Formats: sequence, structure tokens, C-alpha cells
Amino acid sequence: MSTPLASAALDPAAPPNLEAASAEALVAWALERFHPRIALACSFQQEESVLLDLLFAERTDARVFALDTGLLFPETYALWEQTERRYGTRVERAAGPTLEAQAAAHGDALWARDPAACCTLRKVEPLRAQLAGLDAWITGIRREQSPARAGAHKIEWDERHGLWKVNPLADWTAKDVWRRIHERDLPYNPLHDRGYASIGCAPCTQPGAGRDGRWAGSDKTECGLHG
Ligand code: SF4
Repeated sequence: MSTPLASAALDPAAPPNLEAASAEALVAWALERFHPRIALACSFQQEESVLLDLLFAERTDARVFALDTGLLFPETYALWEQTERRYGTRVERAAGPTLEAQAAAHGDALWARDPAACCTLRKVEPLRAQLAGLDAWITGIRREQSPARAGAHKIEWDERHGLWKVNPLADWTAKDVWRRIHERDLPYNPLHDRGYASIGCAPCTQPGAGRDGRWAGSDKTECGLHG
């Protein structure tokens, strides 16, 4: 599908200003520009419920991957299966060492002693390997999620991983996301109805507003995937 954005110049030193583009237009543009070397990073949270709908409306063969830490909630794994059935797709699985191998090398429950090291092994390194085969990735980052994300652009050069990063929902509020989920009757993670605004690995996620429930009680606020 041709979009008015298709001819935007792409220079990492001077990323195009696509802030006025709607999420739909941005997803369409990104897929046209990069498919099949672009994929949605899916963490099965409310933002991905919206993005999956946008993505597959544009291309039935769009690519999606998820970081499978082996420690996701059962509800998240159930939504993973539901997503594959609904869209007739296979969500690519990016994973680090088995839990057994990690325990043998670093001891049991590394996440409780050194969550930064655990996130590096189970999220950061598998993400790096996944992104090495892509020219762009799509994320569910929204500016209001945290101070660290407040400066996110709709498209930006990801210096750390060396590819383009597309954030179609950068200017959406949580209310916008939920309005779209209800309007489109999209499947979503039932943990959101139990007070989990943000959902990660089971050992490191508690109910809470915003990202308050992630690594609660520690200074850690990010996995290291986005900064
Ligand atoms: Fe490990 Fe917790 Fe990071 Fe998951 S969120 S990879 S369990 S430290």
C-alpha cells in the first residue's frame, strides 16, 4: 500500500520527522519500506494488542517476535497462543539460555539477586540477536509510560542496535489504547484487569500503575531493551 510517507528520506544522522503521522499510516509506511526486514517486538501487553491489529490489517505476513524468558505469566503464554490462532501467524521466539543452564552457571533465581544480569541473559542478548537480522523494529513505547520514554520519537535511529525503531503509539495515552481495544474488541492480557498496568516476567512484576509494578522496590525501571 502506497502512503504519502513512502518517500521520506532516511538518514540516521537526521531522522525524518514523522510526528504528524497516525499510527496506521506509520505502520503502513514502515512495512512498505522495510518488510520483511522489520518485525514487531511483542510483549503481549495492551499496546501490542493494538499494534498486532494494525500490523495484520496491513500485511497478513507481517513479522512479530517475542522475548521468551521462560518466566512469563501463564496468562501471557495463553495470549501468545491466542494471537497465533487469531492472526494465523507464528510469533518468532527469541530466547536466552534455558533456566537450567542459567541456574548451573549463575545459581538459582538470579533475578532475585542480580536482575540486571538476568535481564541481560534472558532479554538483552536475545533481543540483540533478533535485531541483528532486521533493518527496523516496531515497539509499543508510549511517551507517557515513564520519564525514560518521554523523549521517544515515532521513528528514531536505534544507535545501540544499529537499525530504525518505529514507535507508532508514541503519542497515545493509556486511555487511547484501551479505547481502541474496546472499539475493536481486541484480545488483551487479562492481568491488566487485575491491576497490572505493565506486565513482564512473573518473578519481577507486581500489580501497579504505569510501570510501578516492574521490579517494585528496586531502582530498576527498564530491562535494558530500550535504554
Ligand atoms: Fe530476569 Fe526479572 Fe529480567 Fe525477567 S524481568 S529477565 S526474570 S530479571
